[in-house]
Amino acid sequence: MNTPPAPAVTLLGAGPGDPDLLTIQAVKALRRASVALVDDLVHPGVLRYLRRSARVVHVGKRGGCVSTPQAYINRLMVAEAKRGECVVRVKGGDPFVFGRGGEEADALRQAGIAVQVVNGISAGMAAPASIGVPVTDRRYTRGVALVTGHAEDAGQAPDWQALARCGLTLVIYMGVTRVQAITDALMAGGLPGQTPAAVVCSAHTAAQRQAVCTLATLVATVQQQGLASPAILVVGDVVQASPMWNAGGETVDKLLQAASNS
Ligand code: SAH
Repeated sequence: MNTPPAPAVTLLGAGPGDPDLLTIQAVKALRRASVALVDDLVHPGVLRYLRRSARVVHVGKRGGCVSTPQAYINRLMVAEAKRGECVVRVKGGDPFVFGRGGEEADALRQAGIAVQVVNGISAGMAAPASIGVPVTDRRYTRGVALVTGHAEDAGQAPDWQALARCGLTLVIYMGVTRVQAITDALMAGGLPGQTPAAVVCSAHTAAQRQAVCTLATLVATVQQQGLASPAILVVGDVVQASPMWNAGGETVDKLLQAASNS
């Protein structure tokens, strides 16, 4: 008699949007899965790598929307894995960057279930890169801080005053709805209003939109252009490396169009 495989769950990063940004490891894991528990920022095209017989459970938990409680998701993963299903937990971006992947890995290990992590391309890298912003360009900065703009996360807001002084590129996830409070706090902490900034929403999807501005004009830019979640805010001198910066706010689309016409 064959021994059944030990229960295991793969925490899989699906990248920021475009399924072409999946890793080969992610595609292999999707092909193996019999059950997929899928977050709501995952591009639907990612699911075409699942077998047709695979069961898909949508367990989205976007801030402010109807969400599936984390405890329920944890219980479901454990139950499916213990029943012998090959479970993939599909998350947007990278599972360990603001994805609650750490909490889920803990819950699984406590239940005696092995965890495999498949990295994905995080929105905080992909969104800036899509407008030509290298987040750690050494000509401008000595590093990057990935920060949540969602005050409730981890029970407290980030120390914006300290971040204002750290000299690092700030890549802010989940920040667009609190952009006023964030920019106020950064400027109160001493970050100059003329610091370059960018907003990229729905990066690597058909709905992508972006703008470059300064810290002082970030709120007006978000409001006037109707830039909405999911979005990455970038604050720091590295934004000057984007072709959009030198084009004085021209959209990347226009730049790309001009390049393809020439
Ligand atoms: N684990 C994910 C982040 C989950 S938190 C990752 O590594 O990318 C959700 C936040 O990620 C959103 O509020 C938004 O700030 C950001 N985000 C996710 N997908 C995005 C996209 N396609 N474009 C811009 N921001 C995105």
